[in-house]
Amino acid sequence: MTATAPREERLWSRCAGCSSLLYRKRLRRNLDVCPECGAHARLGAPERLRQLVDPGSLCLLPDLLPATDPIDFVDVLPYPHRLTAARAGTGLPEAVVCGTATIGGHPAALAVMDFRFLGGSLGSAVGELITRTAERALDDRIPLVLVTASGGARMQEGALSLMQMATVSQAIAGLREAGLLTVSVLTDPTYGGVAASFATNTDLVLAESGARMGFAGPRVIRQVTGRELPEGFQTADFLLRHGQVDMVVQRRSLRGRLSALLAAADHCRPNRPPVPRQEPSPYRERGTGDGPAPAADAVGAAAVAEPQPAVRDAWDTVRIARHPGRPTTLDYLDSVFDGFVELHGDRLGGDCPAVVGGLAKLAGRHVMVIGHQKGHTTAELVARNFGMASPAGHRKALRLMRLAARLGLPVVTLVDTPGADPGVSAEEHGQAAAIAENILTLTMLPTPVLAVITGEGGSGGALALAVADRVLMLQHAVYSVISPEGCAAILWPDRRAAPQAARALRLTAPELCRLGVVDEIVPEPASAAHDDPAETADRLRAALLANLLPLLDVPPATLVRRRRQRFRRFGAARAGTRAGAR
Ligand SMILES: [Zn+2]
Repeated sequence: MTATAPREERLWSRCAGCSSLLYRKRLRRNLDVCPECGAHARLGAPERLRQLVDPGSLCLLPDLLPATDPIDFVDVLPYPHRLTAARAGTGLPEAVVCGTATIGGHPAALAVMDFRFLGGSLGSAVGELITRTAERALDDRIPLVLVTASGGARMQEGALSLMQMATVSQAIAGLREAGLLTVSVLTDPTYGGVAASFATNTDLVLAESGARMGFAGPRVIRQVTGRELPEGFQTADFLLRHGQVDMVVQRRSLRGRLSALLAAADHCRPNRPPVPRQEPSPYRERGTGDGPAPAADAVGAAAVAEPQPAVRDAWDTVRIARHPGRPTTLDYLDSVFDGFVELHGDRLGGDCPAVVGGLAKLAGRHVMVIGHQKGHTTAELVARNFGMASPAGHRKALRLMRLAARLGLPVVTLVDTPGADPGVSAEEHGQAAAIAENILTLTMLPTPVLAVITGEGGSGGALALAVADRVLMLQHAVYSVISPEGCAAILWPDRRAAPQAARALRLTAPELCRLGVVDEIVPEPASAAHDDPAETADRLRAALLANLLPLLDVPPATLVRRRRQRFRRFGAARAGTRAGAR
């Protein structure tokens, strides 16, 4: 048989695993698992829910988000056109379907991602919907089940999509604190920002047979390392062998397994009526009232008080941010801080040279400083892996953050990384989970956290050090969900379109200040930091002190609550807001 007629296409389907031609009805009866070779075909969210939950038990959460294009993103197609096509193609308003249901009689809140919708990408609306699902689980005191299928964060929403990794993670942190079970089910494929946040920082991680999960995709890793990848790399069995998932489950057993796991959490439910529903609000407060939180206004005011930096093309800014003469974390430790004592090691078998950290003093006060380390010469850059942290680097940072909290010391992070290490070994050692754990821990850390984007803030690797009470940014630093080259290669698709991608991504300090991703810009002297490192250090010290001192008197519980409010507003609150000036 050569070509298949359209009519036959509806009746028959070819297995991606063994190329057998299968009768569609028979395939669906077999849960879209090939009866010949066992290949698990991808499922849309509605079909997944049908297979997973008890019939008639599903109660969908409302989809109340308007169409949105928060940063007016245009590549070869305007983003709203891509959204419209995805909606028409799937019949879904967004890339996730959320609801409550029972599985084997056990109640749970579920968020199920749909890869058909813009690659299951995590944008503001998706993050908002999953966060609301987690909040519903908290209100009802039921477990949360996330079924992931995603290529990662949604490039078309720039850093706002990156922020969703923190927003959903802090909702998971809330469930963790409340003693409620969280489960993620990895389905094929789960990558990037989704892998490096809520897909792996849940209590239990199940992988469906045939699923692949990782921080960096195989194409990127091959490109960066120039090596062929090991057989079965990033597959469910690989993940199990490397200790990254609790179990690999065949689709036909998934419902039974989930039911058994949820049964263990049934005792969490008190015999009380559920909390009355209220309109979901991005500013919803929990815990005790202790005065007004610094809302968006306070952040906006701080931004306005800053002198308006001269407008520079985004691509020029990218090049300045990557300048080899730009001061590094060790330079700042020498110039901004005093008495730095470096602490090494993740205590699990590694010490990553791309992350440095330790105790230091800032104007006489003890602080924990953690930062990415690049270098000025090629030899230094190579020795430091270009500031790309391995899982050991993220786990060293995690250890130091927790130590700081125990000692009652504030944490200052200096972010300067093209991204987390996209290598084979990094994947084997759980890069996604290492980043995810840092993000989650920072949303719970009971001590002040101040982050400064000093050079390149590259995606999840940057966010792993940047979930903070205050986020500052040097004037010519950049902070982005993906590198301009990576974005250009995927969307244009042509790496030479990197300058256009840099503009579209809104990655400069003034634009991120306007979006509320960054609270304050630290002005650079002369043309840029590398021209006058001493003056840059003075300005950075002044900015650190001005932002840190007010945090020192805030009770830890209040700090954490406000930090979560800061990241909570990147969902619906931003979804309807346009970026303003271009
Ligand atoms: Zn097959």
